[in-house]
Amino acid sequence: MNNQSQQDELARLTQYANATGTSVVTSTANLDIKDSILADMHHWCKKQGDIAVLNSGVILSSNPASRDIQNIKTALLNKGLRPGRVYAATQDLISLLLANSVGENDDIGEQEISDRQQYLRNLVSEAIIRNASDIHIQVRRNKTTIRMRSHGTLSTYAEWTQKLGREIAAVAFNKETDHATSHFNPLVPQDASMPLEINGRDVRLRLASVPAHGGFDMVFRILTTGHEDLLKLSELGYTEKQVSLIADAVKYPHGAIIVAGPTGSGKTTTLASCMEMIDPIRKLYSIEDPVEKVVEKATQVPVNTDKTDRSFASMGRAALRMDPDVIILGEMRDEDTASVMVRASITGHLVLTTVHTNSATGIITRLMDLGVSSNLLSDASVLRLLMFQRLIAKICPHCSIPLSESTKHIPHLSSWQTVFPVMSAMRAKGPGCDKCDNTGVQGRTVIAEVVWIDDKGREFIQRGDTLGWDQYLKEQGFESYQMHAITLAKSGACDPLDVEAVVGKLAITIDGGKFDYRSV
Ligand SMILES: [Zn+2]
Repeated sequence: MNNQSQQDELARLTQYANATGTSVVTSTANLDIKDSILADMHHWCKKQGDIAVLNSGVILSSNPASRDIQNIKTALLNKGLRPGRVYAATQDLISLLLANSVGENDDIGEQEISDRQQYLRNLVSEAIIRNASDIHIQVRRNKTTIRMRSHGTLSTYAEWTQKLGREIAAVAFNKETDHATSHFNPLVPQDASMPLEINGRDVRLRLASVPAHGGFDMVFRILTTGHEDLLKLSELGYTEKQVSLIADAVKYPHGAIIVAGPTGSGKTTTLASCMEMIDPIRKLYSIEDPVEKVVEKATQVPVNTDKTDRSFASMGRAALRMDPDVIILGEMRDEDTASVMVRASITGHLVLTTVHTNSATGIITRLMDLGVSSNLLSDASVLRLLMFQRLIAKICPHCSIPLSESTKHIPHLSSWQTVFPVMSAMRAKGPGCDKCDNTGVQGRTVIAEVVWIDDKGREFIQRGDTLGWDQYLKEQGFESYQMHAITLAKSGACDPLDVEAVVGKLAITIDGGKFDYRSV
């Protein structure tokens, strides 16, 4: 459109606006942020080409004096919708609004929608094969560009027509996300979570979009591909003895198994691995915030901590009414959840949960803080197994060096004599190599302790005597997580300095907590 005809158009629209006491709308910036084309009227508006009916009922037209305006008002009233004011708008704006809007069923048929849904799945499936973390859909006036980010680098995957890009974006948002109640609107930023089943696996994506000049961008972030293998407890770093204790505990019909540890110590992963060990004929309800890993045998119930009727405790109580065998409470963080744990155990369910503490026996203190009485805690049906874990770096075996060759370690060797009488197999972190990205480290492993609650243990709990209990456990051959870490250092799997950083000074740890000032 040349300048003269633009001016003519504006003059004509302004004349209408002045006559009706309204104004001329020339850009999306003048519109309410929620406003997009009303889905019900989408098909009709597209056919007319010069009218846009917005969600709010407002009617924009580049031909506001036309008879169609009255027709559309009648059509809206027939649908039970209240027509809003009529505004004069430039044809450019109307075209932009129409180009960026996609109706639900009127623009493309049901068959086409399911075609597009399949197209979307193929795209995501292709991204997973390419190990991509994100899919970028860039829709502009004349084309759609699809790019994928793999190993941090973005590369172009395909070019589509603008129409296909718009349709895929709309079908993804309207049909596949948990926001299916609202409509995709390319003129405002939107985000939603998108669960897709692809080749029999549950894939979770995060969908986000922003408006852009001449179109919009939509990005799918792939959160889980369903291909992540759930690691066995032994692969996480639990010892053979510990795994066999846990395997026994999950066979019991009732009682609680509690995994403790600081934030970021991998409790959730351990919990999921424990769930995997439970007999599949038992009915599992897992209350999680949020659902991180898909565990097929469990009914996973998401928590919403903003709403009291969807908290851990209320979802736990709801799950108890569903005739479960096993209840998994993602985290025990308040009195309410602790009481659900106790009630579930006492009423004959196996319960798995996690809590923040600094040792396995410290779980008892924490539960008392959460209002559970020592009488309940020492009840034979309540506690079965207490676990505690932390994570420690594993040495890269390709570049590690003998302890005696590490200048960093040599000054410590004499004070470590009592802890490590034989040091020949021990290793120190090396300078780094191409196998470990020059870090000297190859992943992390669990250091853990597992306490089976026996009758004697229940007596200590009843009396609140944690020190006496610790002493008793040592006499019974119990291995603390500190001992687990020392064993790993002895075998050369972990650096003794890393062990000290996690469990404290080794000479003190081993000597029953007696600090020797002469050793400093
Ligand atoms: Zn290395």
